[in-house]
This record gives sequence, C-alpha cells and structure tokens, in this order.
Amino acid sequence: MPGRSRPDGACTRRPDLGTGVTGRLFVVSGPSGVGKGTVIRGARRELPDLAVATSATTRPRRPGERDGREYYFLGQEDFDRRVAAGEFLEHVSYAGNRYGTLRSEVERRLRSGHDVVLEIEVEGARAVKREMPEAVLVFIAPPGVADLEKRLRGRATDTPEEIEHRLRIARGEMEAKPEFDHVITNDDAGRAAAELAALMRSVHEQEEHG
Ligand code: ADP
Ligand code: 5GP
Repeated sequence: MPGRSRPDGACTRRPDLGTGVTGRLFVVSGPSGVGKGTVIRGARRELPDLAVATSATTRPRRPGERDGREYYFLGQEDFDRRVAAGEFLEHVSYAGNRYGTLRSEVERRLRSGHDVVLEIEVEGARAVKREMPEAVLVFIAPPGVADLEKRLRGRATDTPEEIEHRLRIARGEMEAKPEFDHVITNDDAGRAAAELAALMRSVHEQEEHG
C-alpha cells in the first residue's frame, strides 16, 4: 500500500522471467464465521508461494490484530479518499463498517506471476468477477446453519449484537452459493484446506494442458 510499511514475510517471490505468465486470482468468500481465514491458512501451508491480499477496513481493530497484517486499519476519511482516487478493486459496507480490496495488493503480484487470494464477503466477490471474469470464485459453506453461530460465538471476537448482525447477513449470503465457480464445505478444517489447495493446483494443471 503506497506510503505504508507492510510486514510481508509470508509471500515468497518467484522471479519474473519475462514469460508473460501471470498468476491467478482466487476469491474465497462465504458467511462470516464459516472458516474462510482458517481454510486459507491451511491451504497456504501446502502452497507457500500463495499471496493473500491484505484488505483495508474502517472496522475497529480487535485485540491482537496488527495494522498491515490482518488489515490496513483506516479512518473513514482516508477510506473515502482512497475510493475517490480509484485505489480499490472493490469495496463494500458490511455490518456497519467498510472493507475494500486495494489494487496495489493484487495487480503487481499477479503480473509477477504469483497467485493471489482475496478473503472477502459475497458482494465484493461479485464485483471482482464483474471486473476480472477470469477470477476463480470459491464459496466456503458451513456443514449446517447452526455451525456458523457456534463458530462465531466460539471465536469470541464480536459482541452478541455483532454476531446477530452477521448471522442475519449470512442468510442472504448463503443464497449466493450457485453464483460461485466452486463450493467447498468446511466440515473439517484440514480436509477443506486440502480441497482448496488441490483446487488451486488443478486450475494451473488445466492451463498447462490447454
Ligand atoms: P471467517 O474467516 O470465515 O470469518 P474464521 O476462519 O475466523 O472464519 O473461523 C471462525 C471460527 O470457526 C474460528 O474460531 C475457527 O477456529 C473456527 N473454525 C474454522 N473452521 C472450523 C471447522 N471446520 N470446524 C470447527 N471450527 C472451525
Ligand atoms: P471481519 O470483520 O470478520 O474481519 O470481516 C467481515 C467480513 O468482511 C468477512 O466476511 C470478510 O471476509 C469480509 N472482508 C474482509 N475484507 C474485505 C474486502 O476487502 N472486501 C470485501 N468485500 N469484504 C471483505
């Protein structure tokens, strides 16, 4: 992100060999608490070269979160200024806060041949697909609706009111499932992570074999 430092230890860079090969953009979406972050973390253990784009948000920082790691935490005015400057690939309001994918987190990495993952909600996923139809959209689904509530409460990062709000949004988000290229059920986190990693590999294998 321009003008801000980023602890970017996790991204292993491949040299740009001038082959014209670009990375693929994967969008991992699904309701809050379904386990998107957990599944992506698991997949990255198998695919260490995979970069996860750090989003910007106006949401207050949770204990343990660090600016530039989980998110770039921005004030409302800074967020608006970046919207006006065209810095976002997509941006939404979600549960009373704003979230957006910065072009700077995505475009350079794709051009240098890295795959990039976005972990974003459903509206944002739709917007990315409109702008970049070649993006691969993956919906992470809960084994059952009750699991979402259990996981959000178990994570203990949100107030009971925020959890209720997120569960109300989740009902609409579940209806978006058929719009996605792939659906992975997060029954067991390790299994779901392996499925995501296998899917990412298979996209490249299909490219190689025409
Ligand atoms: P999201 O990124 O979709 O909001 P998280 O990855 O933060 O979700 O997961 C929400 C909570 O559910 C976390 O406490 C996480 O440890 C837990 N969780 C994730 N996957 C599973 C699973 N397969 N079974 C049980 N709990 C899970
Ligand atoms: P949280 O507040 O739990 O970190 O995130 C709330 C929701 O916003 C999650 O579903 C998360 O995936 C989504 N989100 C995070 N960053 C972005 C983003 O840049 N764009 C969009 N559209 N959603 C995001």
